[in-house]
Amino acid sequence: MEASKKSAYETGTENPRINTLIKTSLSEKKVTVIGLGGGGEIALHLLRSGIVKQNLIDNDILESGNLVRHICGSRFIGNNKAFAVKELLDEYAGNQVSSINAYDWNIFDNRTLFYNLIHESDVVVCATDTDSSRYFINEVCIELRKPAIFVSMFEKGAGGEIFTYIPDFACYCCLADHGERKDFLKKYSETTDKKDCSSARDVSAAPGIGIDQSFLCSIAARKALDVLLADVEHSLPPVGTNWILWSLFGIANVIDKHLSSMLIMLEKQKDCIICNQWQ
Ligand SMILES: [Zn+2]
Repeated sequence: MEASKKSAYETGTENPRINTLIKTSLSEKKVTVIGLGGGGEIALHLLRSGIVKQNLIDNDILESGNLVRHICGSRFIGNNKAFAVKELLDEYAGNQVSSINAYDWNIFDNRTLFYNLIHESDVVVCATDTDSSRYFINEVCIELRKPAIFVSMFEKGAGGEIFTYIPDFACYCCLADHGERKDFLKKYSETTDKKDCSSARDVSAAPGIGIDQSFLCSIAARKALDVLLADVEHSLPPVGTNWILWSLFGIANVIDKHLSSMLIMLEKQKDCIICNQWQ
């Protein structure tokens, strides 16, 4: 009976493969996740890989319409998403080892504190659904030289992308303004539309359901592990490339096949105003 009460962290230390990861100092790394919709699933993957130090930031409330693709169940409805995910992660980790901090913030309203959290992070995961927040997070990460993973799902859940910023290499702005990408993504207006989504709209206009989102969250978490393990000896083969396009059921003019990916190394764009200003 006692065994069933063990936390994911404790059972992880008994699993030879995860044990390798944990012993490579992942438990000392800190991740900041912004946007605790899909970001909650990424945070959970990272925790179960041994990352018990996390900052979770979201000022949104969990509504019933979110449950189709959120790790937290109905008992968390009405709670702030960051605090709901923290409570769940603490259950997985066991309170004695986890150091999960939740923040009910709009990052634009807490800039100084936000800078402090990014400064103490080893990698930042951006799972927000507005371009304004992505650009802001991109700039802060460049300024503070912190790696960042940007994850997003395309319209109607056809696919998505995971972009990784590493200091001195292409940034999110390089990607967002990239000519080829512009051809197949209608970006700004659609993402800003989602800003005020209500529960009903969230259900009817959601870009994808939980199973669609899970593929992207898994890849994003895997990419975050790559970044965290870059400077240590480990047993996880790196994914490589900074831009991963993921097709769930075909992205028009990009990937015809279902459940397939395209791995691209995006170069820093010469005309990127952010890179030109900061790096
Ligand atoms: Zn750039």
